[in-house]
Amino acid sequence: MDKYIQDAAHKIIGSTHLTAFTGAGISVESGIPPFRGEGGLWTKYDPSVLDLDHFHRFPKQAWEVIHTLFYEFFGQCEPNQAHIGLAELEKMGYLKTVITQNIDNLHQEAGNTDVVEFHGTAQTLVCTNCGKKYRRSEMDFSSFPVVCTACDGLIKPNFIFFGEGIPPLAYSRSMQEAENADVLLIIGTSGEVMPASMIPRLAKQNGTTIIEINTDDNIYAHGSNDIFLKGKAGYIMDIIIQEIKRLLQ
Ligand code: NAD
Repeated sequence: MDKYIQDAAHKIIGSTHLTAFTGAGISVESGIPPFRGEGGLWTKYDPSVLDLDHFHRFPKQAWEVIHTLFYEFFGQCEPNQAHIGLAELEKMGYLKTVITQNIDNLHQEAGNTDVVEFHGTAQTLVCTNCGKKYRRSEMDFSSFPVVCTACDGLIKPNFIFFGEGIPPLAYSRSMQEAENADVLLIIGTSGEVMPASMIPRLAKQNGTTIIEINTDDNIYAHGSNDIFLKGKAGYIMDIIIQEIKRLLQ
């Protein structure tokens, strides 16, 4: 492991355009479980609340779950050492952009300033009728469903529900990053969700060096990654940062 950590630190220091690509696994140490698998959020909550058809048919019930899960629960969670490590890499001048599949805002809270939210965000909301946008801070969550002050239409969080397309700007910026990055640091994603899982493959085709951190050997960038670091994101990021600081002394 030490050798792989050293290799990763050298690649980061030698990079000209480091990009990070993160998934649900980076937030597990912040207390947010992934959706699927043992202990996953969908073992506790019904995933159909994120099905557009169900959301429109049962808006009150859907909003009660969405509010509990994505606003009350996610809102209490804080960045962990992995998010903080990425913010530190930006401050050091290495990390240019974070592409995240997450909607928990923890990269921004940790201090990263260029975060591409591939699946959208819970921090803004949108009226499904007139398209009016709202900031989370201006929402009244005292009764459900949440409706538009302009037209009474149903409001939804501005992250994508099942079957919805990727926000165009997030998509184009991510593809651009996959082209521009000379080193891609992938943290905590299973690669089961398309089209996000194309990003590392596109990067690889462009000759990008891929460093991957995951607790599971069974990671999807097999054959694509150059350095695989098995372990918890917070722990591994912490020792990479220490190693970078040691090398820079
Ligand atoms: P996933 O649930 O499919 O996979 C999570 C991956 O993280 C797995 O490969 C797992 O082995 C790994 N992992 C678990 N704990 C880890 C840890 N401590 N350190 C490092 N790796 C760890 O997640 P996905 O690929 O991101 O796809 C699921 C979709 O659901 C995405 O859109 C995701 O953003 C969304 N989601 C988001 C959140 C969030 O915003 N925090 C939470 C759950 C799901």
